[in-house]
Formats: sequence, C-alpha cells, structure tokens
Amino acid sequence: MKRIYFDHSATTPVDRRVVEAMMAALTDKFGNSSSVHSFGREAKELLEKAREDIANVMNAGGDEIVFTSGGTEADNLALFGYVYKHRDKGRHIIVSNVEHPAVGKTAEELERLGFSVTYAPADEYGMVRLDTIKDLLKDETLLVSVMHVNNEVGTINNIGAIGRLLRERGVVFHTDAVQSFGKIPIDVEEMCIDLLSLSGHKIYGPKGIGALYVRKGIELQKRAFGGHHEHGFRAGTENIPGIAGLGKAAEICAMELEKEAAHLTRLRDKLHSLIASNVDDIILNGHTMHRLPGNLNLTFNGVEGEALLMALDLKGIGVSSGSACSSGSTQPSQALLNIGLTPQQAQSSLRITLGRDNTLEEIEYAAELIIENVNKFRAMSWN
Ligand SMILES: *Cc1c(COP(=O)(O)O)cnc(C)c1O
Repeated sequence: MKRIYFDHSATTPVDRRVVEAMMAALTDKFGNSSSVHSFGREAKELLEKAREDIANVMNAGGDEIVFTSGGTEADNLALFGYVYKHRDKGRHIIVSNVEHPAVGKTAEELERLGFSVTYAPADEYGMVRLDTIKDLLKDETLLVSVMHVNNEVGTINNIGAIGRLLRERGVVFHTDAVQSFGKIPIDVEEMCIDLLSLSGHKIYGPKGIGALYVRKGIELQKRAFGGHHEHGFRAGTENIPGIAGLGKAAEICAMELEKEAAHLTRLRDKLHSLIASNVDDIILNGHTMHRLPGNLNLTFNGVEGEALLMALDLKGIGVSSGSACSSGSTQPSQALLNIGLTPQQAQSSLRITLGRDNTLEEIEYAAELIIENVNKFRAMSWN
C-alpha cells in the first residue's frame, strides 16, 4: 500500500543529505572532539562547522550555540538554567498558555519549587498579544517564554514585537522555535531573542539532538557537571554524528527556505480548498494569515477526530488529531481548549502537517479520502 506522511510537526523523515553527513561522522571522523591529535581535531571541525551552520540560520554567532539532546532539554535548560542562576533578582516568570509541554510542564515544576508563574493567555487564533505580555510584566519578572510557532495550530507569534518590549524592560526572552527554525525567517538580533530552542528531528535531521541559542553574556546555572563542553552548560562528550546531522539539516533549510515555504503553502491551501468545497461545517483553527506553511488544523463538527485518524491510517495516511493519548484515555488537547474550542470541537480536530517531499498528487488523494470519510461518519451519526 502506498503510504503518505502528513505529520511533519510530530517528526520529519531524515533527509538523505543529512544521512550522508552523519555517516562521515560515524565512520572516518570518529575522534573525540576534545582530543588534541588529528582524529580529535577532525571531529572538532565537524562540531564547529555545525555550530556556524546553525547560527547562520538565525543571525547568531557559532559560540552562542549549546547542543542538547533535543528541543525538550533545550527548553528545560533555558527556563531552569536562567531562573536558578538569577533567582536572587526575582522569582516571577511568564509563559504562554499554549506552550509545548516541554515549556509548560517545566513552568509547573518551577511553580512547585517556589517560583511564581503567570500563564499568558493566547487569543482565539492561538496568538500571544503584545498587550497581554505588557500587562502581565512585574518588576520582579525574570524571564518570559513565548513560542515562535504553535505546534498544533501553526500560529506564528510576533516574536520581534515581544522581544523589543522585553529588551526595553530588561527582561530576558526565551522562545521555543522548534516548529519555526529553518522554516520561516528568524533573526535573533532584530527580534531581540536571548534564548531560543530548536530540535533536529523537526527539520529533517536526526532525533535526540537539538540546541539552545544562548545570547553572549547570558548566564545559566549548570545542570550537568563534568567537563568543560558547551561553555560548561552541558558537560559530556558531544554527540558528533547527531550534531553533524543537525548542522547539515540547518544548512539545507537555510538554502531551501523560500522555495519550500512556497511549495508547502501551495499544497496546504490546495488541500484546504478541496476539503472546504466538499465538506460543510468545518472550522479552520489557528490564524488564517500568520500561519506556518504546511500546517492545516481543521475541526470537522460532529466527527470523532480519533476515528477519522484511524480510518485514514488504514489507508496509509499519517495525520494527527486534536486529542492526546495519556494513560490510556484520550484527552482533548489543552492548547486547543485554551484558544477557545469546546472539548467536543477539540476532539473533532485533525492536524495535517505537510513536508518537503509531499506532492500535489498526495494532496488530491488524501483530500478525497478525508472527504469520503467525513461524509461517511456524519451519515452514520445521523441515523
Ligand atoms: C517537538 C517539540 C518540542 C520537543 O522537541 P524534542 O526534540 O522532541 O524534545 C518542543 N517544542 C515544540 C514546539 C515542539 O514541537
């Protein structure tokens, strides 16, 4: 059976060019990057090139990149690392209420540890407004964390406006850019970003590798003790194959960003219009304009999202629904509820996220199956 992958916000396939770069690091260039001899120097070269390639995507310096095990660890390091280092100056932080659990659950843990956390509400489009942040700032606010692009509805926040406000107020700004890095333009200078998280497996790189951009001069509390790796923020021999893969993935994204964004926008809009012209009573979740290319999140009123997902899976199409399976029962996604969907609407939602290798043919085939199944499920529930 022909299979179609439409879940690129969950993870992406690894690009062939990335596999090649990783292969070199796994075979010929196997040295320990801390070693002085030529074996070590070759590994070190891969490490430093990857830093530069990643930094270039966001107008940062290579020495501002700290490698981590992924987006989750980068988010944890940003929040824990910053507030623990500076806890004498204040104990209040602000995070949006539509963050990925890697930020949301970290904030909850900080709350348990005695910090005060304000959850800034996003609007009905999943957008965190500048005024909302402005109103919530306090004298003792240490850090604000607002994601660049939401992983469910694809809404793109005006990170530059928030960053400039916080710079003015002397508050450190972290953004989870796992969904945006390499896909839409980022400039840490222009956007006044101090800490930024990214992940390999969301940009056609390997899993288990990511990075935190740490603006020069920002101090973090160390969380792993040992060697002097990664400015001492994260001790341990570097994952050079993963890092080389992430570097290559970033380089490809930078090269193909515009072309790819246009391709994905065209396919996404085509899919949306095919579905919308054949199925009634649907809602587009997220923002109509400020939206990640390739993200389509729809509520099909009266249809169980999970059932639709499984019907499509039987046909080889991989999508995601608006509910998360936790300990055996399906719960509506908290982020969807927080932007105003009812639990029923959230559970009637489908997230379709397109990627680099998807084709118009796949879009047309999938649209047909989605339309057919939605109409079938609705006809059944009317009996
Ligand atoms: C996937 C994701 C993460 C987690 O990244 P991992 O590398 O899987 O740990 C964090 N934030 C967002 C927005 C994500 O989409």
